[in-house]
Amino acid sequence: MSFLGTVREIREAFRRGDRRASDICEEALTAIEAQEPSLHAFNTVARDRALERARALDRERSRWADHPLAAVPVALKDNLSVRGMRTTASSRILEQYVPPFTATAVERLEAAGAIIVGKTNCDEFAMGSSTENSAFGPTRNPWALDRIPGGSSGGSAAAVAARMVPLALGSDTGGSIRQPAALCGIVGLKPSYGRVSRYGLLAYASSLDQIGPFARTVEEAAIALGVIAGADLKDSTSSREPVPDYAAALIERPAMCIGVPWKLLDEGIEPEVASAFRGALEVLRGSGVTIVDIELPHAAVAIPTYYLVATAEASANLARYDGVRFGYRSPFGGSTDLAGMYAQTRAQGFGAEVKRRIVLGTYVLSAGYYDAYYLKAQQVRTLIRRDYERAFARVDVVATPTSPTAAFKLGERSSDPLQMYLADVFTVSANLAGLPAVSVPCGFTTDRLPIGLHLTGRPFDETMVLAVAHHYEGQTTWARQAPPAAA
Ligand code: GLN
Repeated sequence: MSFLGTVREIREAFRRGDRRASDICEEALTAIEAQEPSLHAFNTVARDRALERARALDRERSRWADHPLAAVPVALKDNLSVRGMRTTASSRILEQYVPPFTATAVERLEAAGAIIVGKTNCDEFAMGSSTENSAFGPTRNPWALDRIPGGSSGGSAAAVAARMVPLALGSDTGGSIRQPAALCGIVGLKPSYGRVSRYGLLAYASSLDQIGPFARTVEEAAIALGVIAGADLKDSTSSREPVPDYAAALIERPAMCIGVPWKLLDEGIEPEVASAFRGALEVLRGSGVTIVDIELPHAAVAIPTYYLVATAEASANLARYDGVRFGYRSPFGGSTDLAGMYAQTRAQGFGAEVKRRIVLGTYVLSAGYYDAYYLKAQQVRTLIRRDYERAFARVDVVATPTSPTAAFKLGERSSDPLQMYLADVFTVSANLAGLPAVSVPCGFTTDRLPIGLHLTGRPFDETMVLAVAHHYEGQTTWARQAPPAAA
């Protein structure tokens, strides 16, 4: 029933002519259909477009055969624009929005032979850590249906974990790829700031947002990154730094030195997460990797810093949803003037968490509070980046758990935003400092809930981050375990 091929297996089968792209695509669509009622990983399944695309690949097999993602079904977080395909960011305000253009990362996937099967559920405008802030209802964790899959890219993580697709894209502003990857037992990579073009990504916090892949293995994530990375004239923040062959680089095993900021790990971590983390370090040490203690003195204030910067930028980015330019407009109702129309549109179109962040963001940017909050946060952000620079003079990657807890129950934290924000304590620093970071499975709780190992690297050194993750993965069997929902 479920879709089990890896990227490599799929493209090889297609290349040899053993399987047609349309059969592979049907298999993914069947797996989606079977599991959607229990998981709700998707906002939109683009069945006809996907099958049409698959048939086009079949008609020209020799042309596509050697492409890195030939015939590979891929799911996209619903904040990535695809021309002609509804793109909602899981918000009422964009419920009927159909973009007239396609995100560069998505164009590159298709140019590499991928088949887009649909758009996945997420927290509204990528604001959240559980996918419960979606206007269209939550996604469930394939390992335990009464639990959240993490967020905000929870639908993409659940779709890959449940073997609906081998690959998905998400976006990560403060952990939204890595945390759901950890909670769903798969690999999730946030590239360096500027590594992947954001053209066509619905902006949340522009100095933090990055697009990145979810996959079951590090190698597949590396293949996907190689496809989507690189300069783009349509995004002036995209870097011209050359794109290495990330997947080929995995064959080498460089000398590795890992730094662990033990002080950060003193409190607030579930015992089972802490012991899985220590176990992962033992495995690495036992395989010849050097592990040293480091300090990241300012990481302790990364959460407040992040929530000032992110909400400030969000309040500016979301100003465009005014009922005129995109999506939903309130029927004029009681109001008679333009300001009233804006207010009603936004009152009806945005959910509670988005409103909370817009209010907080405009507050920290306001004349009276700018210096005390926004400016201060930017200064602390610099200190956080410098901590990492110092650490990377001694070590190649920094390791922590990805999330302080395993997946929590649906509804458990919905009424307590501060508690929800703490889910990001180990992930937001990489965004604030612009660094690449990956989450790779490193164990399970006694309730069979996945746990993730988080590795952060130097700017544009995705190669090292992936190398350490790949090396670790090779010493363990976590990546081969499937959740009950997919079995
Ligand atoms: N959970 C964080 C937030 O709510 C991160 C979200 C993200 O990375 N998009 O802002």
